Amino acid sequence: MKKIFFGFLLFGYGLAFSQTTPESSNGLNRFRANYDVGFYDLNVKVNPTTESIQGTVTIRFKALENLFRIQLDLVPNLEIVEVTQDAQTLKFLRKESIVWVDFPEPLRKGKITTIQVTYRGKPQGIADASQVGGVDWRENLSGKSWITVSTQHAGGRLWWPCKDDFSDKADSMRIHVVVPKELTGVANGHLESVYKNRPDGYWSYNWRVSYPIQPASVTLHVSNFQRIQDTYEALDGAQLSLEYYVMPDRVAKAQTHFQQVKTMLNTYEKIFGKYPFWRDGYRLVETPFQGMAPQGVIPYANFYRNLPTYDFDYTIVHESAHHYFGNSVSYRDQADAWISEAFATYAEILYLERTKDYLTALERLKEYRKLIKNTEPLVEPSGVEELPKTQDQAYKGAWILHTLRKVVNNDSLWYRTLRAIPKRFAYQVITTEELVRFFNQELAIDCTPFFNQYLFHADPPVFEFTSVDNPKRFKLTYRWRTKVPGFVMPVRVTFGDRYETLYPTNEWQTVYLKKEDGQQFRLDTDRFYIFGSHLPLE
Ligand SMILES: [Zn+2]
Repeated sequence: MKKIFFGFLLFGYGLAFSQTTPESSNGLNRFRANYDVGFYDLNVKVNPTTESIQGTVTIRFKALENLFRIQLDLVPNLEIVEVTQDAQTLKFLRKESIVWVDFPEPLRKGKITTIQVTYRGKPQGIADASQVGGVDWRENLSGKSWITVSTQHAGGRLWWPCKDDFSDKADSMRIHVVVPKELTGVANGHLESVYKNRPDGYWSYNWRVSYPIQPASVTLHVSNFQRIQDTYEALDGAQLSLEYYVMPDRVAKAQTHFQQVKTMLNTYEKIFGKYPFWRDGYRLVETPFQGMAPQGVIPYANFYRNLPTYDFDYTIVHESAHHYFGNSVSYRDQADAWISEAFATYAEILYLERTKDYLTALERLKEYRKLIKNTEPLVEPSGVEELPKTQDQAYKGAWILHTLRKVVNNDSLWYRTLRAIPKRFAYQVITTEELVRFFNQELAIDCTPFFNQYLFHADPPVFEFTSVDNPKRFKLTYRWRTKVPGFVMPVRVTFGDRYETLYPTNEWQTVYLKKEDGQQFRLDTDRFYIFGSHLPLE
């Protein structure tokens, strides 16, 4: 999930519907907070000739208070034909992308209700292949339709009516993709059946998602895909279904290249535990452009190519990590999006450490370090849906986790904690505060000032020091300069290859370090993401 895409997406969205006010349409407002979606059944017919869709979504939800109105979301260019409850027509009101549905009788708190929304129209297209947000219609090399939905985050409302808020995962879902019979419709979940006897001659591909899912993560791909099947055997012997839907002329290439999926799954299983969507299987679907990582189905547009030096496919290794962080452990608010990006990027580093070695992983980290901008905090205020302007959530985020590992300085504790996160928060939506609290508990240290400095301020901690350098002795006076008071973090310093661990605070301390003649003082920035500031003596 590249946040830059998200940025483009909402920007484009804002241009198209400039009257949309985020205050009214987004966030957990009154008519979203009053109900909880349990199940969606989305039935959507895709017509490549007219580049349009039509469908019905059945929504089962529980009233969390006595209510007479709920909010759904759907972009205004898609028409709502009707909303019904038990065959009775319900009134609805639309404003920009909001759809308020009113009930003739108030629903009592705790009541479970099912409504159906029928809709149709031409969804927003994707103007540029690098932008994500809408439905892309094109033909592949064999002249067949190649249709790609790409909506993650901005999100479901671009092509289907739903409660489009990060905080509410449906417990499960069904998706019926209805397509001309020469095409295959692929969605999230597990393919339960294909219905071939529709009066209109279309075929219905019936998918079932048997895990909680955010509407923004629901996706759809249509083409004359060739399906490649494979199996991954977990450490306990359980079998995971792997499926690759690729262009007909890429089958041989894909069969060879996608072997690394098993290496990736095995590596992540050892670090983070079993693949979180086991019953749904793992799927790659060939797309004309790269997207983010919808649950269980990763769009693949990386030319069957590995990164030089590191020998892995970025899409497979990075995007699959989002199944753990993003799809299973999801964030509740845009402000907490760093959790997903930081962990997925750090997962790449750990993947390299396991499949190559620590130094190769460090090389990759150092490349990422050069890309960090430090122009904005990783966490923006919650509720405002502010989008990051840089990739710091990924690059700096990975460095924060790497730094914390070195602060902890106990790899068995570190890996135990990393593994505990996807287990403790599986299929949930979490906030930054919950995650920090969890680190504090598991690591048994107070990480709050650490995370406060790294996440809520643009600048990393600065190691300020003065020095008097003699041939055999180095007088070092030092402290942390941080925005957060009470910041404590160990750091390593060195002359040559002999390291000393110091425990700076925000107060000045002095130490005399032994050294050899001619050796230069250096901060260990391979382990800690910090800046150094050498002040002149007064
Ligand atoms: Zn990502």
